[in-house]
Amino acid sequence: MTATGHAIIGTVIAAKVGNPALAVPLAIVSHVAADLFPHWDEGTNGKKSKERIIVEAVFDVLIGFAISYLIIFVLFPKTNLSYAFLIILISQSLDWLTAPYYFWGLKPFKIFYKFQKMFDNRMPAPWGIINQIAILALIVILAKIF
Ligand SMILES: [Zn+2]
Repeated sequence: MTATGHAIIGTVIAAKVGNPALAVPLAIVSHVAADLFPHWDEGTNGKKSKERIIVEAVFDVLIGFAISYLIIFVLFPKTNLSYAFLIILISQSLDWLTAPYYFWGLKPFKIFYKFQKMFDNRMPAPWGIINQIAILALIVILAKIF
């Protein structure tokens, strides 16, 4: 999923699960679950240059933080911001750990790339984006209701 997708899921976990002993493992597992869902991300279209993917990924990360902040501000204002930020980073962590190999070929990080390849379920745009927005909106709405 996009960094934004993982951030939104991390935000919901932080808002709903106050106990880090539960939220941290949940955030890690959520990354795998989110990537199993058919989705588009910056690397889905294989024709882009590495530089372009990096630029898009940086925007993705920043947009993810901004949307997460908005979700907390509007829907879950009691959530501690530092706690939410931590859970967001943990939700994204597999991608942070994959990036050094994916972008710069740093071998020690290849294991994370290989691990993610096992469950990463790609779907091209536009459906891989529409799909993602729909499931994320549903998760946020359900988290607000229950
Ligand atoms: Zn991933």
